[in-house]
Amino acid sequence: MTFTRWENRSVLVTGGTRGIGRGIAELFARSGAAVALTGRDARAAAGAAAEIADATGGRVTGLGADLRDPDAVEEMAAEAERRHGHLDVLCANAGIFPEKPLREMTAADIDEVLGVNLRGSILAVRACLPAMERAGHGRVVLTSSITGPTTGYSGWSHYGASKAGQLGFLRGAALELAPLRITVNAVLPGNVRTEGLDALGEEYLSRMTASIPVGRLGEPEDIAHAVRFLASDEAAFITGQTLTVDGGQTVPESLDALSPGTP
Ligand code: NAP
Repeated sequence: MTFTRWENRSVLVTGGTRGIGRGIAELFARSGAAVALTGRDARAAAGAAAEIADATGGRVTGLGADLRDPDAVEEMAAEAERRHGHLDVLCANAGIFPEKPLREMTAADIDEVLGVNLRGSILAVRACLPAMERAGHGRVVLTSSITGPTTGYSGWSHYGASKAGQLGFLRGAALELAPLRITVNAVLPGNVRTEGLDALGEEYLSRMTASIPVGRLGEPEDIAHAVRFLASDEAAFITGQTLTVDGGQTVPESLDALSPGTP
């Protein structure tokens, strides 16, 4: 039986400058992997990488790449491979979740959300394939969401479409890439305390907390542990799958179901 030797692994995390992606980058760095994290701005990404390296003693580098720009995404993957000599894991995590009621939604709003979350994820996976083929194996872990694949939320219909779309993509990609020893899976976070979530306001956060059976919002680290498992050697026989990490939020059939003793 063998266990993953993270010190031999090189991991690229998109959207690693803050929030869930930063939590993922930190956990891989603490585990001994070489980590490249990305954001739109190279300086901000380098700053986040330096902070994580200081905190963990790990090997962390930062890259600037806007996921809306296919050339930048190609360069991001090539540079991650160059800096660490190989590339084994892609965490396609970057995403945006602006609220917009359907009646006010413009074509530009739709393009923006689908462009970053869905098209950007597909571009990132495609860009990493040559490096993973050279490595002889690969792990792709997408950060989807419960919103879209499992639940709906008024004001986030375009976001839900982008997150459900990621799962359609992952099933086709998993089949295409299985012969190359590249697995493609997704985590579906519930409500996780990040700057992006904080921006939705205190009322949103307290309503959400009340609907989570374990009684708290998620932390980036909760998602990172699930991502690290799907990225491990131990998960070699898992592909095309999803793992919900939501504190049980999608389990109750109504708010009444959260009260003990309710029939
Ligand atoms: P966040 O705190 O807002 O961080 C978003 C990250 O994505 C940042 O690192 C940001 O980097 C990057 N990013 C945004 N637009 C980008 C672009 N055009 N190109 C490249 N990078 C870009 O968000 P989060 O809450 O951590 O969410 C991360 C992922 O988890 C998203 O896919 C989101 O849909 C998903 N998710 C979050 C929750 C939650 O409760 N927080 C729940 C379910 C799913 P820069 O700003 O530095 O460019």
